[in-house]
Amino acid sequence: MKKNYLANEIIRLIDSLSKLPGIGNVTASRLALYLMKKPSQLSMEIARSIVEAKKSVRTCETCNDFIFNNECDCYSGSRNSDILCVVENSIDLISIEKSEGYNGQYHVLQGLLSISQGVNPKDLKIDKLVARVKKEDFKEVILATDPTSDGEFTAQFIHEKIKDYCPLITRIAIGIPIGSEVNYTDKNTLAKSLIDRRKVS
Ligand SMILES: [Zn+2]
Repeated sequence: MKKNYLANEIIRLIDSLSKLPGIGNVTASRLALYLMKKPSQLSMEIARSIVEAKKSVRTCETCNDFIFNNECDCYSGSRNSDILCVVENSIDLISIEKSEGYNGQYHVLQGLLSISQGVNPKDLKIDKLVARVKKEDFKEVILATDPTSDGEFTAQFIHEKIKDYCPLITRIAIGIPIGSEVNYTDKNTLAKSLIDRRKVS
């Protein structure tokens, strides 16, 4: 008899993996077969990391970032409370921290609004952000989402919701990377950098 099926357990694993963002059926199948091929130690390690992270990581009630053991330093006193920076996720927050150019508060959206992916304002708890801006006396809110269509849409949406509660709402500048040249910059970036030009001071 010809064998033309995978073991049910592998099919179930492929189904589970394909629920992750950015992983289609082909990648999920490849990952599942890879895990089957490798010693079980690797699978155990991955499974254990997921369970342990899910058990100990929570979301901060204030800044919506992932925190360990309910501890968040968002209001540690050493940070500027006049300014709030809205980012897509914790990785973006860390990148901004590494730049050492910002010392204000953060709000982590944990995603971007997306019509194509079906992500709506409720999924990102935008109401929580609006309530925070209403309650606190921020002098500026920086919208630091990516310059992609979902990132722009999200920034625009948030701007509409908070514009009456904060005197200054800014968007991160988009332009020519430091160290690169004008003639190597793509058309869209160059156009945007001309729109966002600033006065030389
Ligand atoms: Zn926090």
